[in-house]
Amino acid sequence: MFFSSEKGRMKRKFLGIDIGGTNLRGKIISGQGDTLGEGKIRSDASAGISRLMENLVGFIKEFSRQEISAIGIGVPGTVDSANGILVQGPNIAETRDFPFAQVLSERIGTATPVFIENDATCAAIGEYRAGAGRGSNSMVMITLGTGFGGGIILDGKLWTGENGFAGELGHMTINPSGPPCAGGSRGCVEAYVSQVAIRRIVRENPKLREKFSDVEESAFPERLAELAREKDPAAISVWNDFGANLGVAISILVNILDIRTVVVGGGLSGAWELFIGKTTEETERRCISKAARGLQIKRAVLGDDAGVLGACYLAESGLEENC
Ligand SMILES: [Zn+2]
Repeated sequence: MFFSSEKGRMKRKFLGIDIGGTNLRGKIISGQGDTLGEGKIRSDASAGISRLMENLVGFIKEFSRQEISAIGIGVPGTVDSANGILVQGPNIAETRDFPFAQVLSERIGTATPVFIENDATCAAIGEYRAGAGRGSNSMVMITLGTGFGGGIILDGKLWTGENGFAGELGHMTINPSGPPCAGGSRGCVEAYVSQVAIRRIVRENPKLREKFSDVEESAFPERLAELAREKDPAAISVWNDFGANLGVAISILVNILDIRTVVVGGGLSGAWELFIGKTTEETERRCISKAARGLQIKRAVLGDDAGVLGACYLAESGLEENC
């Protein structure tokens, strides 16, 4: 009996999907973690939730020619994972309290369970299971993208929180009188350490502004990194502040959670050598010494694969819990 159920488990296949602003990326893994298929189509997320769902259903049906045991989806936005609800998706038009998992299940018309999580949380699961966090017991991942996202894994389990909203790391206040946040707060770390933050900081800096006049806002971080590598003092100073503010955020997490592994990923981690020195310095300065013992701040290794792989593992773990 035990043997046959083990055998059934080995045959399982999990579909993970990462919803980005531009693309939907999908991957199928076996119960042993081998990749069985991969694909990518346009998401059109900015065109609204109904177009996104249409694309998603088409994509899943394409993949579902293979028999899938469960589907995991990383969604950009605030997610009530326990109830499968997308509470708010700033990059998906017309979205508020959308019953994502339920609608998707109905539209694909199979009994395959669907689990959703915030996309940065999925990236954290991916790095924990197969990337820079592999082998650690507890870990926090910080994703430096458009915003400041993340995920918390404690004793090998994703900490989803009492209401399913845990891991909104970007809203740690690091300056109570700082710039306002869309969530209603002020001076959140996201306002200092993110792509959006870099755009604001450059616009407000008279020494830098003119050097960006021919650059699209989305390319500001890259240009800022180039300038810093060319030893532009104003650009170096922005990355120093960026690094130090990241260190403030990491020290808060380490002091509260007493974890040894912090993984930093996302597009801005490409400027790693420009900020990590200040991050380490600031973290060490602010951590209660015993909590910081053996702390490692690691660079993520899976790149864009972290989110989609994490979504596969989300499907797998969701199924285990529901079995
Ligand atoms: Zn905030």
